[in-house]
Amino acid sequence: NDSTALRNVAVLGATGSIGTSALDVIARHPDRLRATVLAGGSNVDALLALCVRHRPTHAVIAETSRYAALRDGLSAAGLDTQAHAGNEAIDALAAGDDCDTVIAAIVGAAGLSSTLAAARAGKRLLLANKESLVLAGELLMRAARESGARIIPIDSEHNAIFQCLPDEANRETLRRIVLTASGGPFRGWCREDLAAVTPAQAVAHPRWSMGPKISADSATLMNKGLEVIEAHHLFGMPPDRIEVLVHPQSLVHSLVEFVDGSTLAQLGLPDMRTALAVGLAWPQRIESGVERLDLLTQRRLDFEAPDLDAFPCLALAFRALRAGGTAPAVLNAANEIAVSAFLQGRVGFLAIPALVEEVLAALPPQTADTLDTLLDADAQARRIASKVAATMTIGA
Ligand code: NAD
Ligand code: MG
Repeated sequence: NDSTALRNVAVLGATGSIGTSALDVIARHPDRLRATVLAGGSNVDALLALCVRHRPTHAVIAETSRYAALRDGLSAAGLDTQAHAGNEAIDALAAGDDCDTVIAAIVGAAGLSSTLAAARAGKRLLLANKESLVLAGELLMRAARESGARIIPIDSEHNAIFQCLPDEANRETLRRIVLTASGGPFRGWCREDLAAVTPAQAVAHPRWSMGPKISADSATLMNKGLEVIEAHHLFGMPPDRIEVLVHPQSLVHSLVEFVDGSTLAQLGLPDMRTALAVGLAWPQRIESGVERLDLLTQRRLDFEAPDLDAFPCLALAFRALRAGGTAPAVLNAANEIAVSAFLQGRVGFLAIPALVEEVLAALPPQTADTLDTLLDADAQARRIASKVAATMTIGA
């Protein structure tokens, strides 16, 4: 259990925003970190470029039709990296002996199966894929408890709370958790103005550079809603002890309030490499490449309440968490369909909360004691959401 021993890391979602940041941190520490498994969705060229740079033992592409392109590309580059394809291969590598640490950075419910595989296999699990906790939080936390997997949250807010709460302190001494939110690109806008926003405007986040799906979620505040559910599972907090505070500078990444009047916060520039470095080295600290926070230059820390009328997704997520059972899975699936329809220009921005609300109403929460129940709810929600989205027009 030597914490300075070489760590073998599987980066799932390697070609994405988090994956790229993770590889940047890993490459800074060749003496202690090695990327042994790289997994991507469908972009073989991007995955090959990462293989040339990081020389993993295994490379895997989720899209099976891209297997030959990956295999041939690896051999043309003169690498002895082994090529694999398909979701089962990702799961097997996440659980296998060639890694002790897994960075779960696939976007959406597509990341659940490999995240669960890593949790069941007892890996150190650096969890960025928040949708897997929203969809199956209880199962995932239980799998990690049973196998001894250490989950380190990578979402910046939860990573901040993790740092303020490292020893899983007695929950009775915690008064509440405060998640900060940047407010997204439309902070201060009213509902009428939001009707006409374009996908390009929605993904242009003022403070963070992220993939398109989470950027759109930040614009609707659904991202914060998913994070409330995520915090509930990670830290065992009931919904009424999780608060959301808009903090436009994105320097205070979240706060933990204790019964004695102490509030602890973690601060830093908005760059995911800090959270990733925490997860990779914990309980030690390593350089991440992130600039130091200079409060004299930043000068201000502002806080305001979220506007639940203009951004109903946050309230919908609280409602789904309180309803429990399959409701969070339904919320997440409906949101994935709605966001994808919005990003493809098929529905307007306000259709996202409208769709999620309609699908939640159509599928009353069921008890969710098995993975199959949750996956069924996810599939049903996707079907209904797609059907409703097809009847909507832009501006509706
Ligand atoms: P991204 O879109 O930039 O990258 C997604 C990655 O997942 C890519 O490598 C893609 O190839 C892969 N992928 C997509 N579909 C797949 C599939 N079906 N099977 C296998 N791989 C697939 O997304 P991102 O911004 O890096 O976000 C990744 C996850 O991390 C999301 O769950 C997001 O909510 C979470 N997260 C991201 C940030 C951030 O700053 N980007 C912050 C907090 C949490
Ligand atoms: Mg976050």
